[in-house]
Amino acid sequence: MKVKEGIQLFRIDPDEDFHLRDHDPGWAGTKEMRELGEDELKDRAKQILQNRLAELADAQEVLYANDIYSVLLIFQAMDAAGKDGTIKHVMSGVNPQGCQVFSFKKPSDEELDHDFLWRYQRNLPERGRIGIFNRSYYEDVLVVKVHPELLERQKLPAGEKGDRFWKHRYQSINDFERHLARNGTLILKFFLNVSKDEQKKRFLERLTNPEKHWKFSEADVAEREHWDDYQSAFEDAIRETTTGSVPWYVIPADHKWVTRTLVAIIIAEKVRELGLAHPVLTEEQSARLADARKRLEGE
Ligand code: AMP
Ligand code: MG
Repeated sequence: MKVKEGIQLFRIDPDEDFHLRDHDPGWAGTKEMRELGEDELKDRAKQILQNRLAELADAQEVLYANDIYSVLLIFQAMDAAGKDGTIKHVMSGVNPQGCQVFSFKKPSDEELDHDFLWRYQRNLPERGRIGIFNRSYYEDVLVVKVHPELLERQKLPAGEKGDRFWKHRYQSINDFERHLARNGTLILKFFLNVSKDEQKKRFLERLTNPEKHWKFSEADVAEREHWDDYQSAFEDAIRETTTGSVPWYVIPADHKWVTRTLVAIIIAEKVRELGLAHPVLTEEQSARLADARKRLEGE
């Protein structure tokens, strides 16, 4: 499968109606790929991941040297879908100085004293950097939509908090992202699509394996009871905030190696498409370098 076609399988098209049911969390390769057999397929995926990580490391250097674009990677998902692991693997090859990760939890009192985009805006990546949002302003149309009491804490002006209210939030997000895109931020949004069965398996693994106990939180099981509400909130959010300039990628997440490989492929390809090269010096800059070299050599 060609990379571009592959990416298209997972990129949501703003002109088509979006339904989560059309996206299989258990996807593990096209028919031709599956004919390779699982072990062979996994080995190839690992190889691709390695190559893409190397490409990403190079791309990051060029991004940094150019100092024009920044890259914002947004990860959203149900609990245990693999956000942390994907971030860890995909960014394992890049220079830590060019990369910033922010994990967003429940907003603080100070954060609640501002509009919902404020805390995210303050943590955007600088030019030349890759910024990762482990959860993001999308929580404000996901968990906050599923739990209306969280919205009450946001101290908003009185008024109906129905469909129109959420439409306006999606609009604010679209406007914000369009603004960032126009000003040099490449935004890549990933929804890691895990199935309810696989989530249960992973929770049970957290409860059984002592090394994974720390990952377990009782709140996760409570949230699982709202599974359908979350799926519907994700579906609405993805449908309403997939735009031509900033689309969503819905990534199958029941197989960790699939998730990691696809995310690495998409990031490497999209950064490559920025068409950046090492900056070329002006004549004046070249002359200065030659001069500096002469002085050093003459010491
Ligand atoms: P974790 O990522 O597992 O540490 O959990 C972070 C928790 O913070 C999750 O339960 C999120 O739903 C919650 N959270 C993140 N952003 C918001 C937000 N804007 N409003 C309310 N809860 C949030
Ligand atoms: Mg958690």
